[in-house]
Amino acid sequence: MAKVKKKKLVKTMPEWCKACGICVAFCPVKILKLENDKIVVTDQEKCTNCMLCEMRCPDYAIYLEEQE
Ligand code: SF4
Ligand code: SF4
Repeated sequence: MAKVKKKKLVKTMPEWCKACGICVAFCPVKILKLENDKIVVTDQEKCTNCMLCEMRCPDYAIYLEEQE
């Protein structure tokens, strides 16, 4: 049976986030926001796995991870 590839999950490392807002600005579906100067994913379901947040974050504070 063909293996269905699961969507990756957006993970964050809030302690590394410098609240620059770059990922918030780049996310095409606007599901990232800053709360108390830390990055928060508001709606994981809407993520398109475009990887822009991971590619643009200068502090490695946001990344995509394969689901088990
Ligand atoms: S992978 Fe793309 S859609 Fe998903 S949170 Fe990052 S920038 Fe937004
Ligand atoms: S780009 Fe990185 S450091 Fe900047 S707000 Fe997003 S997660 Fe935080």
